[in-house]
Amino acid sequence: MKHNFYAGPAVLDRTVMDEAANAVQSFQDMGLSILEISHRSKQFVAVMEEAEALIRELLHVTDDYAVLFLTGGASSQFFMAPMNVLSSDQTAGYVDTGTWSAKAIKEAKLFGKVNVLASSKEDNYKHIPEVTVPSGLRYLHLTSNNTIFGTQFHKWPETDAPLVVDMSSDIFSRDIGDINQYGIIYAGAQKNLGPAGTTLVIVRKDLLGQVDRELPTMLDYRTHIAKGSSFNTPPVFPIYVCMLSLRWLKENGGIKVIETRNESKAKVLYDEIDRNSLFQGMAREQDRSLMNVNFSVTDPNHEESFLKYAAEHDAVGLKGHRSVGGLRASIYNALKPESVHHLVQLMKDFEAQNA
Ligand SMILES: *Cc1c(COP(=O)(O)O)cnc(C)c1O
Repeated sequence: MKHNFYAGPAVLDRTVMDEAANAVQSFQDMGLSILEISHRSKQFVAVMEEAEALIRELLHVTDDYAVLFLTGGASSQFFMAPMNVLSSDQTAGYVDTGTWSAKAIKEAKLFGKVNVLASSKEDNYKHIPEVTVPSGLRYLHLTSNNTIFGTQFHKWPETDAPLVVDMSSDIFSRDIGDINQYGIIYAGAQKNLGPAGTTLVIVRKDLLGQVDRELPTMLDYRTHIAKGSSFNTPPVFPIYVCMLSLRWLKENGGIKVIETRNESKAKVLYDEIDRNSLFQGMAREQDRSLMNVNFSVTDPNHEESFLKYAAEHDAVGLKGHRSVGGLRASIYNALKPESVHHLVQLMKDFEAQNA
């Protein structure tokens, strides 16, 4: 069995995988595979309803909000969010904390005025910048966790504007506080929720229907709200696996329990990075991500040899993103504490052999 540190698509719990595999063979008592049933069958409609109910329960989402399963990835939300809520004469605030934020900023500019309130680009995004948010913004957009750079907001900037947050790589990993502070939350499923192929969008309904433009039917959130995410054929299998992983999360204690487990996993790994003479952390300490742990070797000659050593011992997915280099261990919800302990032991052994 491998210890899977890939950044995304990423690790899922074994029990989720087993149940998904069974459903590919035969789904419930239908005598059919989950892959060959109608998205309008009562069995699949029940899956969709359960997935939505679990999301509402786990994140305390009220009826003021719609919960949608869309396609096109988080990348499509970069344009869909401003297209649906930002009129051409309105201003949205953005904080540039990494590659994904920068992409969101580029798209938003197509629809309205964009005020980039702060950026840590000059430091290759090693920290979360301080932000003073002016009043009068239509919304404030944040990337809660910077998957590539290993930084994370541990507190939102103060603002009276609704938050629009890309939570692709840390959704369901921690308590997100009062739902009413959010306008839109979106997340590609493939980091912390399920397999690639669907994007979760939680949107406050009263923000919609106010923009000064016509919207293509498929790009209008209201279309998907009216049709329960089934205006067209939704990604049946990815949604099913998301539902299984939400069930797994709930059965294992929900957000509070996973948050504590995530904090202790991250602490174990960062403590070793800080202790071990052959490794060093990359992100500013107070901004370190609990999901993506970026680090590097103090002697560049050790990078390839450590990756090789780790792979020989079943620890995979540790190479840093090409725009950052170094190493990255993604330690999402489904990664077991044993896998972090395994990696820490490999680092200790590597030090003993090479220091
Ligand atoms: C992976 C990722 C994305 C891109 O997601 P896609 O579903 O591939 O479009 C966007 N934002 C963040 C924070 C990510 O980690």
